[in-house]
Amino acid sequence: MPPSGPFPPFLRAKLTASSMSGTQVAVAAAVAGVGAYALYLRKSASANATDKPSLASFGFHSLRLHSTELVSHNVKRLRFELPNSTQPSGLSLTSALLTISIPAGRWLPVLRPYTPVNSLDETGFVELMVKHYPGGKQSSHLHSLKPGDRLTVAPIKELSWTPNKHPHVALIAGGAGITPMYQLTQGILNNPEDKTRITLVWGVNTDSEIFLAEQFGALQKKFPDRFKAIYVVATPESSSPHPKGFITKQILEDAGLSASSEKNKDIKVLVCGPPPMEKALKGAKSKPGVLTELGYSPAQIYSF
Ligand SMILES: Cc1cc2nc3c(=O)[nH]c(=O)nc-3n(C[C@H](O)[C@H](O)[C@H](O)COP(=O)(O)OP(=O)(O)OC[C@H]3O[C@@H](n4cnc5c(N)ncnc54)[C@H](O)[C@@H]3O)c2cc1C
Repeated sequence: MPPSGPFPPFLRAKLTASSMSGTQVAVAAAVAGVGAYALYLRKSASANATDKPSLASFGFHSLRLHSTELVSHNVKRLRFELPNSTQPSGLSLTSALLTISIPAGRWLPVLRPYTPVNSLDETGFVELMVKHYPGGKQSSHLHSLKPGDRLTVAPIKELSWTPNKHPHVALIAGGAGITPMYQLTQGILNNPEDKTRITLVWGVNTDSEIFLAEQFGALQKKFPDRFKAIYVVATPESSSPHPKGFITKQILEDAGLSASSEKNKDIKVLVCGPPPMEKALKGAKSKPGVLTELGYSPAQIYSF
């Protein structure tokens, strides 16, 4: 079992964020080096003493794994105990946890972000849903954890959500990039003050990878006028009700997400997925992306 508990950064001189995506992660990883461990020790002690939310303070936290559940052939739900069992995590909408481990045979730590999927208001626990990539360093480590093992995490802030700032958000996700979208969808729809409409388009490889279908289905039932989810499956079963292929301009137009439509001019588009998907949507120097072709300006697009 690779060491997964807190470790002194002084012994781990170099932290690397080379394979992570998102500016915030790179910044968090850089800042998370020397000094943060000391801050963790001080803050986690005072958090319990003053009954503060467990992860509200910057720095490292060591979380004990309470239980795991296999939710599909390659996705596991990991439920961790918060240090303060009477308080919620204190994470704001939207936030992730930067997880840190040292896989066996390596001396450099591996840092990857994962987005909590349980309600941010739940006390005592934080839950991750982790897709296992064959050979993936952190996802393999997280899938190997057993109840009672510990994981070192540091909270990182993603998009700071302001209720009703946009009348409509388009959430475009690929694979495990769904988790930030699920956290945001829950946060918006469970806030009676927030009237934002949501259209979710989620691209997956197979029907069995739509691992949050039940949860999204319940939200669609409860908020039929405000939430719509469309799943696009690369290699669907013959009985699949979902469109086949990748997330294309046509699929987004069919979902009512063309920016040229007057009702969509104030829409905000959030994207989270594997690099090829993000490139196709946001474009590259030589080629405009699908979102530009649909009429979106760079200011309307946020990438997790
Ligand atoms: C803001 C944010 C939140 C995230 N939240 C979650 C989450 O809640 N749950 C979750 O499972 N993941 C999430 N991810 C992805 C996660 O951070 C890791 O990138 C992922 O688990 C792979 O890490 P790894 O170390 O196992 O793979 P690595 O060792 O980095 O890569 C090994 C191989 O796996 C494949 N691979 C890696 N990442 C991807 C990918 N995204 N798509 C396709 N193939 C890939 C590649 O073939 C790669 O060569 C999130 C990412 C971001 C940016």
